[in-house]
Amino acid sequence: MPLFMRIDAHDDYLEGGLTIEEVIEFCKLAGEAGVDVLDVSRGNIISAATKYEVPPIDIPRGFNIDNAARIRKETGMLTIGVGRINTAELAEQILEEDKVDMVVMGRAQLADSQFCNKAKAGNVEDIDYCVGCDQGCLDGFADENCPQITCLRNPAVGREAECKITRTEKPETVLIAGGGIAGLEAAIILRQRGHKAIICEASDKVGGQFLTAGEAPRKAEMKEAVIAMGKKAERLGADIRLNTPVTKELIAEIKPHTVFNAIGAEPLIPGIPGADLACVVNSHDVLNGKVNVSGNVVVIGGGMVGMEVAEYLAERGCKVTDLEMMKEYCADMGMARKACVMESIALAGIEAVTEVTVTAIKEGKVVGQKDGAEVEYLVITQ
Ligand code: SF4
Repeated sequence: MPLFMRIDAHDDYLEGGLTIEEVIEFCKLAGEAGVDVLDVSRGNIISAATKYEVPPIDIPRGFNIDNAARIRKETGMLTIGVGRINTAELAEQILEEDKVDMVVMGRAQLADSQFCNKAKAGNVEDIDYCVGCDQGCLDGFADENCPQITCLRNPAVGREAECKITRTEKPETVLIAGGGIAGLEAAIILRQRGHKAIICEASDKVGGQFLTAGEAPRKAEMKEAVIAMGKKAERLGADIRLNTPVTKELIAEIKPHTVFNAIGAEPLIPGIPGADLACVVNSHDVLNGKVNVSGNVVVIGGGMVGMEVAEYLAERGCKVTDLEMMKEYCADMGMARKACVMESIALAGIEAVTEVTVTAIKEGKVVGQKDGAEVEYLVITQ
């Protein structure tokens, strides 16, 4: 029976932890003792290297392969490479470059249980790849009320048999209002079932808020994923109509059996005095490049969107202060993304202030309450 050993390449961020040279020596001893195959992972749960345990979108694809390749070379043992390998093309490239003997994927097969079958058949463009969000398979599962993992890309994860897609005997026309990720998913499933799917998208492109999310630092895969979904819906024969908001007249003209509402959400603007001033812009317009922001910027809100916008602006030369009402920022993020974003925030020199309640926005400044005193943060446009 072959004996596989899962091992970390080295102990990132851990003072006194194992170096890769020590791991190589250990693997040689393990080989002498009977281990046949090395499965080289990375990360630990007692330091910032927790970000590598279930590496999120912030970590580059295939980030650990060079370590596995070195361990393989220096031990001469059969070696498996893992870690943010989410496309068939990347797996193929790693094997062609002879870096490891085998590539193993976990989340890639949660996001698409048919990943291997599709790759084997050459249908790689139909694979729904894991975007490293960690929301369903890691963060959601950490919630004791969550009975099983979920997946942002695969609503049927773990229930594939129950959610089996069958062809209908009575095809109907379904009008889908909105070509974001929900509208596209609906169109894809409807087409796979044999229905006629008409997507009416008010803007000039499909993708919705996944396109916006893809503009945040290190999150381009979100955008790539939804663009691929748009192409898949098209290949399956969905009728996609851009610049077409759904109106009563349109519904009367198409006469659909069902209208599917997937128009997405609008940002909630808090009722802070001064929120309507011209110097106040919303996160979506910033990320979509609709407004130009420069100079000293104050971002109100230190959750995921606020911190991503703060980073986005810091990357473009702004001096950013982020104000968060709660005790910690990134509070709505799971552990791995949080570790990555907090590290980036520190490196970008963003001043993140917690436990401050914004009370007013005025020309040139944001006013708030912190520790019972009034505080001001300057906004200077260059
Ligand atoms: S929940 Fe996100 S990270 Fe987890 S498998 Fe699905 S897409 Fe990948």
